[in-house]
Amino acid sequence: NIIVLCNRLEDNMSTKSMTLYMVVPCYNEEEVLEETTKQLNVIFDGMKEAGKITEKSRILYVNDGSRDQTWNLISKLHKENFWVSGLNLSRNRGHQNAVLAGLMYAKDHCDAAISMDADLQDDVHAIEQMVDLYLQGKDVVYGVRSSRKKDTFFKKFTAEGFYKIMKWMGVDIVFNHADFRLMSKRVLMEMEKYKEVNLFLRGMVPLIGYPSECVYYERNERFAGESKYPLKKMLSFAFDGITSFSVKPIRFILSMGIVIFFVSIAILIYSIVRHCMGATALGWSSLMVSIWALGGLQLFAIGLIGEYIGKMYLETKGRPRFAIQEVLDKVENEKGTAL
Ligand code: UDP
Ligand code: MG
Repeated sequence: NIIVLCNRLEDNMSTKSMTLYMVVPCYNEEEVLEETTKQLNVIFDGMKEAGKITEKSRILYVNDGSRDQTWNLISKLHKENFWVSGLNLSRNRGHQNAVLAGLMYAKDHCDAAISMDADLQDDVHAIEQMVDLYLQGKDVVYGVRSSRKKDTFFKKFTAEGFYKIMKWMGVDIVFNHADFRLMSKRVLMEMEKYKEVNLFLRGMVPLIGYPSECVYYERNERFAGESKYPLKKMLSFAFDGITSFSVKPIRFILSMGIVIFFVSIAILIYSIVRHCMGATALGWSSLMVSIWALGGLQLFAIGLIGEYIGKMYLETKGRPRFAIQEVLDKVENEKGTAL
């Protein structure tokens, strides 16, 4: 353990530089890309100067099937700028898939990758802090919004509500962290093994584990253009997040069924009492009891079936069950070979 740690520290002491890939998904972003490139270039030049990143580092724009001139612009920026590269997807696959495509490409070329939105809402000055934390041995650095002063009331209300519901549903996510984060090569290698189709990256990364840290930043307004996340997309994204990571909704139906079934027993007793007192119309008692008892039983049965479907659903995802972070074995350490 200590040897591994020392090796890593030594590596960092001697080189202290890494190959960084910025993964930037772009969907109809022709209005902002020039400015984004300008700002990222300044950051990259600065980090190169300080010897923190190597010349192999890149700003990787992922064009997510834009309908405007975004791809042509990326090609142009690539010719004119040392740091800029591009990745063109076959069609619009949505933000999460575009980020994943970029990350999976970057993983073979970098030591760590940072995903960031194109619209400059994420603070580019946090990038250097992320790189510093990586050089200090962190594998994941989450960019967390320190406040939402610049958001509209509606966006703030829905977004923060979303994080709270996710927490309540038992999904382990970082509060107020979106998709501005650094991930080391080994985190990306693990991520490759998650074969799920309904992507929800911010839920996946805490699941992968490894040492992590947060960096706080003030989120800006969009530099130009409109949000590519209308309410409908936002809701479906939130629902995907919950159903991809939690079977709580199913369990909720199950418990509701049990509760209603107990209520039906109470009503049974009540009906019998009323019946004996002779204060009811003929047939009332049996109807009352059967409505409640059957309703409860049905919900209970659906919930139970759902429970099994939930299990199957998680199984078909075929997620890896664990990842080895370190091998604590004397023999292996001496030989210097892994499992
Ligand atoms: N985006 C994408 N594909 C899409 C929608 C959005 O690649 O189908 C990108 C978009 O270009 C931006 C990022 O995802 O870089 C976040 O989108 P946006 O800023 O519109 O979302 P908001 O910040 O309003 O939630
Ligand atoms: Mg945005």
